[in-house]
Amino acid sequence: MATCDLRLSNALVLTMDQRFTVHRRSSVAITSDSIVAVGAEADGYAASETIDCHGRVVMPGLVNAHTHVPMTLLRGLADDLRLDVWLMGYMMPVEREFVNPEFVTLGTKLGCAEMIRSGVTCFADMYYFEDAIAQATADAGMRALCAQTVLRFPTPDATSYEESLALAREFIERWRGHPLIVPAPAPHAPYTCTPEILRACAELAVEFDVPLHIHLSETALEVENSRRDHGMPVVPWVKKQGLFDAKVLAAHCVHVDEGEIRALKNFNAGVAHNPTSNLKLGAGIAPVARMLELGVDVGIGTDGAASNNDLDMFEEMRLAALVAKGTSGDPTALPARAALSMATRLGARAMHLDHLTGSLEPGKRADLIVVDLDQLHNVPAFDRDPNGIYARLVYASKSTDVVDVMCNGRWLMRDRALLTLDERELRAAAQVEARRVDVFLSSREVSVLQKLVAVGGAVEQESFEVQVKARVASEAPVLAVLASRHVTIVRSSHYHQYDTYWSFEDPDQGWLRYREDEFLEKEGKVTGARARLTLTGRTREEAFGAVLLFRSRYLAPAAHSARFYREYFRPAATSSKKIAAAGCSSIAASSSTCTSIA
Ligand SMILES: [Zn+2]
Repeated sequence: MATCDLRLSNALVLTMDQRFTVHRRSSVAITSDSIVAVGAEADGYAASETIDCHGRVVMPGLVNAHTHVPMTLLRGLADDLRLDVWLMGYMMPVEREFVNPEFVTLGTKLGCAEMIRSGVTCFADMYYFEDAIAQATADAGMRALCAQTVLRFPTPDATSYEESLALAREFIERWRGHPLIVPAPAPHAPYTCTPEILRACAELAVEFDVPLHIHLSETALEVENSRRDHGMPVVPWVKKQGLFDAKVLAAHCVHVDEGEIRALKNFNAGVAHNPTSNLKLGAGIAPVARMLELGVDVGIGTDGAASNNDLDMFEEMRLAALVAKGTSGDPTALPARAALSMATRLGARAMHLDHLTGSLEPGKRADLIVVDLDQLHNVPAFDRDPNGIYARLVYASKSTDVVDVMCNGRWLMRDRALLTLDERELRAAAQVEARRVDVFLSSREVSVLQKLVAVGGAVEQESFEVQVKARVASEAPVLAVLASRHVTIVRSSHYHQYDTYWSFEDPDQGWLRYREDEFLEKEGKVTGARARLTLTGRTREEAFGAVLLFRSRYLAPAAHSARFYREYFRPAATSSKKIAAAGCSSIAASSSTCTSIA
C-alpha cells in the first residue's frame, strides 16, 4: 500500500486542473511539500496523519497575480483621487519619506496575514527593498514572485536606475532556487522607464531564467502618450525594446487592442487583471473575456492595498465575473468556473509558476485551502448542475469562509487561526506607522510650499517683476520709441501666456500661479511650450496704482496638467488670465527699467 505523510479525506476536491476534475467525498495525499495523489488514488493511501474534512471544499490556494504587498501600510491614506494625483502627489512622496526595510517587512507581514486569512497562498509582488519582502514572505510561509522595482527616477532604495538594476541583479542571485520565492526584475512601467531600462531588465530576466513583472497599458492616457511619442501603442513599443524575450507578467492591460492581445498570446505573456483597482482609479475595464478567448493566460490581482483597499481575492474574482458581464451586456461572459480558474491555475500560468502551484495535481506543491460552504449565506446546495459548486464559491462564498490554509505542505492557518504570524502584534505596529505618516502629511497639508516641495523640483528663487500700465490712444508712438536709438532691446521673446492663479483660505500662503507659455516664431507658429508653477506673495497693484509688483518666492517646473495641481493643492479660489495671443517683448531702455507691452 502506498504511503504518504498526510491525507485530507472526506473532502469535495476541486482540482482546478485543465479538465476541471472534481472528486466528491475523496482525498488529497501529501508527502513533505508536494501532492502525491488526488481523488480515488489518494483514497487508497495509508497516511501518518489523516484529517477528516467533513465534506468541505479542498481546492488550490488562491493566486493573487499582482500586488504591492507592503502598501497595506498605506491603505486608506488617500482615496477618491485621480491616478496621477494619487501616485505622484501622495504615494510617491510618502514612500520617499517612509519606505525602508523595516517598513516593507511590517507591511509584508500585514499583507501576508490578510492574504492567508482569505485563502491566498501565492502572490506576485512589485516593490522596493524586495529582499526584505522576500524574507518576510518566506518567514510567513507563503509562495511569491518577488520583483524588485526599477525606475528611471531615484527610488526609496536606489539613487539611480543603475543602482536599482544592480540591486535587482543581486536580489535575483541571492534568492534563485529558493523553495518559496521566485525573484524577478520589475521595470515599473514603460512611462516610468527608459528603453534602456526595459532592455536591461529583459536581459537580466533572460540571463537568470526568471519572469519579469511590469505594469502595461493601465490608462488611456498612457496609450495616447505612447502613440504620440513612439507612433504606436504600448505593447508593440515594449516589444521593440526586447521586453518579450523575457517571461512577462503584465499587470492591467486595460487599453489593449485586438492586435496587442494576439501579441501577448504569441509572446506567452501573462496578464494580471485588477478589476477593483482599475475601477477605483477610473482606469477602465480590461477586455479579459476576449483575452481568454484568444488563449492568453489571465490571472486576477488585487493590486496594492492603497488602491483597492484590501487584498480579498474572493471579492476580486466575483468582481471580475460581474464586470465582464456588465460591460458586455452578456450574462454568459466570464462564468464562475472561468473566474475561479483565473484566480488559481491561470493566475499561476500568468506568473509562469504553474509547474509549482495553481491546481491540485500530483507533483505540484501542496498549496491548498479548505473552504466551508455550510454557511447561512451559502445554503442550500444543489447537485444537479456540475458548475453549481463554482457559482457557490465565486458568487456567495466570502473570504472568511476559508478555514484552513496550507502552502508548500505547511499549515499556515488552522480553524481560522494564523500559525506563522501574530495578528494582534501586526495590528498595533501598523497603527504606530499610520500615526507617523499622518503627522508627516498633516504638516505638509498646512503649507502650500511644503506641498510644492513634495511634488518635486521646487527651488527658492526670489524675483521681482514690475509692470507699468498706462492707457495710450494709439500704439504707434510707443512702437516708434522702441524703434528709436534711445532704446536698446537686450532680449525679446514672443509667446502666448496662459496664467491660472490659485488662492488659499489662509492668505499668508500667498498665491500659486500655474503658467503655460507657448513660444512662437515670427509667423506665430508655436515652437515649444513650458509650464511652471510659481509661489508668490500677493501682487501689490492696489498700493502702487499703475505699477504692478509681483514677487515670486519659489519656482518649480510643472510636469503635470493644471487639473492635477488644482486637485492636489485644493485652492479656495481659482482665477484664470488667459491671454490668447499676447506678443510680449522684454526690452531694456537706457534707464534700465523693464517694460512689457501686451
Ligand atoms: Zn500595480
